[in-house]
Amino acid sequence: MNDTQKMQELDARHVWHPYSATDSNLPVYPVVSAHGVRLKLADGRELLDGMASWWCVIHGYNHPRLNQAITDQLQDMAHVMFGGLTHPKAVALATKLVDITPATLQSVFFSDSGSVSVEVAMKMAIQYWHAKGKPHKQHFASLRHGYHGDTFAAMSVCDPITGMHSLFADSLSQQFFIDAPPAGFDRPCSDADMHSLQQTLQQHGEQIAALILEPVVQGAGGMRFYAPDYLRRARELCNEYHVLLIADEIATGFGRTGKLFACEHADISPDIMCVGKSLTGGYLTLAATLTTSEISHTISNGDPGIFMHGPTFMANPLACAVSLASIELLLETDWQENIQRISRALEQGLAPCRELDTVQQVRILGAIGVVEMKQSVDMKRMVPMFVEAGIWIRPFGKLVYLMPPFVMSDKDIDTLTSAVHSVLQIYSH
Ligand SMILES: *Cc1c(COP(=O)(O)O)cnc(C)c1O
Repeated sequence: MNDTQKMQELDARHVWHPYSATDSNLPVYPVVSAHGVRLKLADGRELLDGMASWWCVIHGYNHPRLNQAITDQLQDMAHVMFGGLTHPKAVALATKLVDITPATLQSVFFSDSGSVSVEVAMKMAIQYWHAKGKPHKQHFASLRHGYHGDTFAAMSVCDPITGMHSLFADSLSQQFFIDAPPAGFDRPCSDADMHSLQQTLQQHGEQIAALILEPVVQGAGGMRFYAPDYLRRARELCNEYHVLLIADEIATGFGRTGKLFACEHADISPDIMCVGKSLTGGYLTLAATLTTSEISHTISNGDPGIFMHGPTFMANPLACAVSLASIELLLETDWQENIQRISRALEQGLAPCRELDTVQQVRILGAIGVVEMKQSVDMKRMVPMFVEAGIWIRPFGKLVYLMPPFVMSDKDIDTLTSAVHSVLQIYSH
């Protein structure tokens, strides 16, 4: 047995991977390094990365500017507690986030992962209403097909079917689920489309602290795109029924959908916004929950006068430093034109998949390309085919989707999409 095989053996024996079984025979590929848009496997093969490591690695791997930001910060300090202390990178990053997100968002709470930023958002909403003398507003409304993370409160607002709520029935808070908006970014939104939300807010608004949703793109719950007009009308309904709006921009933030934040498609401001994933350019784990001055002041002046949350590694300086560099890097390029370029390349490259009998739909928005199959794919069969073809893609359910790093060239996107097409063609026979 060589070293790689030994490592794989130990991995299979002791290491649990995301959403997987310990004794599964699904392959797990050892990566030894990554540069730009390519992952290098232990056996020397290179894979073109179509996933950006779950939407995060927008500037590619091993980027000199991002490496430098971390190396520089390391000379000063890797970490310092955030209770009673602050540091330059946290302040600069918070200020930058306030600058680039919708204008009403003024206060930033840092945490370590997207799920935790959602927990924080939900606690903010409850504490806000508590301070306003509405302690019954402890429940949430969320959209079917939504995904907001894997911790308990976040899980309680995920789609009840794909989130397997029956399994956790007695542990999960009961929330109010709204029919998902009809699919289609360009589809006009009718009164009927708003009915489920309107009815729920009207009937249960007294108990609902906030509506939480992923603006315009529902990610891990189905890679569904919906009309910005739905979002705009949801914002209006929240105002009408005194329910806060939490925008979970963890997947959509930082340009992926063609706007810096997906809320901009509808020109709305949420009351609370979560960002994560590509916040650090995929280098480290960091997330943030932003809210308005009204909410932060109300919480701070209510009972108990403080916000009840404080992660140990809050605002880690290395993570803040690399986030700042990642955002600067993004904003100093013509990123909008770049996302349109990727969009065109994905559209062109994936169009032939529409001809395959096994394909239900191909849809593109910003730098997201989705091939929805008619049936769930057999990952055990399909993933090795992608690897053989030299690309890294991790489908789920019926969805084969691409979210390349923003630095991927047209030529590489062409290679990626051609490989997807040929794999799906062979897979279909
Ligand atoms: C990934 C994701 C989360 C959870 O983030 P983690 O960092 O995995 O905890 C929450 N919401 C959305 C929309 C996501 O895509």
